[in-house]
Amino acid sequence: MTMMTAAQYEESLRKLNLIVYMFGERLTNVVDDPIIRPSMQAVAKTYELAHMPEHEDLMTATSHLTGKRINRFTHIHQSVGDLVKKSKMGRLLGRETGCCFQRCVGMDALNALSIVTYNIDQVCGSPYNQRFLDYLAYVQENDLTCDGAMTDPKGDRSLPPHKQVDPDLYLHIVEEREDGIVVKGAKAHQTGAVNSHEVIVMPTMALREADKDYAVSFALPSDAEGIYYIMGRQSCDTRKLEDGEIDRGNLLFGGHEALVVFDNVFVPWERVFMCRENEFAGQLVEVFAGYHRQSYACKVGVGDVLIGASQVAAEFNRADHASHIKDKLVEMNHLNETLYCGCIACASEGHREPSGTFSVNTLLANIHKHNVTRFPYEIARLAQDIAGGLMVTLPSEKDFNSPEVGKWLDKYYRAHPEVPTEHRARILRLIENLTLGTAAVGYLTESMHGAGSPQAQRIMISRKVNMAAKKRAAKKLCGIKE
Ligand code: SF4
Ligand code: FE
Repeated sequence: MTMMTAAQYEESLRKLNLIVYMFGERLTNVVDDPIIRPSMQAVAKTYELAHMPEHEDLMTATSHLTGKRINRFTHIHQSVGDLVKKSKMGRLLGRETGCCFQRCVGMDALNALSIVTYNIDQVCGSPYNQRFLDYLAYVQENDLTCDGAMTDPKGDRSLPPHKQVDPDLYLHIVEEREDGIVVKGAKAHQTGAVNSHEVIVMPTMALREADKDYAVSFALPSDAEGIYYIMGRQSCDTRKLEDGEIDRGNLLFGGHEALVVFDNVFVPWERVFMCRENEFAGQLVEVFAGYHRQSYACKVGVGDVLIGASQVAAEFNRADHASHIKDKLVEMNHLNETLYCGCIACASEGHREPSGTFSVNTLLANIHKHNVTRFPYEIARLAQDIAGGLMVTLPSEKDFNSPEVGKWLDKYYRAHPEVPTEHRARILRLIENLTLGTAAVGYLTESMHGAGSPQAQRIMISRKVNMAAKKRAAKKLCGIKE
């Protein structure tokens, strides 16, 4: 099997024995849990679309290892064209799900490791690249979803890992054995963690000699012994436990994040891709971050949904002909398509690394992600402006169905004479979900902090921009000679 269907993906998750805690209790059935299931369904879309002829070009690729057709989420980019298709795939899936579909982190980790394991081997004579390629073949053959795990809890931000009062605040090697290593620590905010077959761990930042034990990268099955998952809460998450559907906003899809704890976990050597090569930790972080900042193409697709919802809400209010509403929708599209320009540009300006993998233009990927930390907030502000206050004062679906008061809600909240009040409620609930509810985690806060907070991009922008060339251009034009 090289490409699972959505149904096969769901069945494959049932075979995992994950230790997942939520609301203080261990879950006995992760896949069918009403809070987690929408996030599983979002990942399942990445499998479903790969089997649709109209999406085959974006959703699948040819493996450079086997020549077989594979899901693009397990592919190593072989050309600039592959990078552009990756950006387009992100927008497509964002639009199809209206949320974070989670599978990009693993794809980005695989691509980053394909580059950095090769580079380490060139300098250190290590066997990492071949190990990695064997692992990649396994991931491709079984069409696995991988959680790319980078973010450590970090504790006291003013101290390096080895100076922390608690040494586990960054994930580290605690023991080296003949057959492998033992690691301890945690990875925070792990997107899609409990919907993943595998977890790929990477260091969280550049590391000095004294922090060698923290320079570690490896992959493990997500249900390996000693791994624990503690689910993060989302605003309005318990609406998914209610009867009915309207108040959820997005009926089928959502995302999730979890804290993943590694409590003295054994990793066999064949799954270790970096072991104490601290001088390469920063490179792995930078390459992964470049890819993952490109991946924020997803927010363009979610923006498509929010802009569409705003247009529909305006039409349902019969406000769509007002010039200021039209102008706000133009502004939303302007911002959203500007984001699209960034994710296409960083891909189009991609280049070949020594390993053969194609990587994005780092400066432009950082510019793109930096725009993503801002524009979705403005798009959301405009969506709320157009939606009106009813979005947050609307009574529940149960009140709409009440034999006593439902008739009044239907009567007093009707706007367009030909549009059922229920439709108006549905579109407002979707905008609420995207800008205040569970999906706002993905569309807003994840846009801010996912793939690095704004300051991380500003540092990269200052490093990557060619200031000397700009100064030369200015001096030349005004006749300053040196
Ligand atoms: Fe992928 Fe976007 Fe979710 Fe990150 S936020 S995992 S890039 S869908
Ligand atoms: Fe993310």
